[in-house]
Amino acid sequence: MNKKQPKFFQKSSKIVIKLPKILIKKNDKVLVLSGKDRGKTGKVEKVLRRNGKVIIPGIAIVKKSTKPTKKNSKGGIISMPSPVHISNVALICPKCNKKAKARLKKVSGKKERICKVCKEQI
Ligand SMILES: [Zn+2]
Repeated sequence: MNKKQPKFFQKSSKIVIKLPKILIKKNDKVLVLSGKDRGKTGKVEKVLRRNGKVIIPGIAIVKKSTKPTKKNSKGGIISMPSPVHISNVALICPKCNKKAKARLKKVSGKKERICKVCKEQI
């Protein structure tokens, strides 16, 4: 059997969605490089791969007004961290406590992050 693939499929297979390379993972310690929270450090709570952004509690706080809901009958203003683009944060190596420029290295078939400063696996 040599079935030809339909044309539309061949076309769409050429489209490659490039997601930004994110070396930052959840629970990583990061340093904020820009914005009003510049210089602060925090722990990554969530990585938004699609947007290339991370959420760090206590960083880039925005105040949002909420309408009263069943859970929160009063509504009002809540403070919540807004996503920060990964280019605005730097990973801090837990081993040497320095701004680590991590790179990926294949270690026994697995991709591991290596700190460029102390060459340790992070
Ligand atoms: Zn290091």
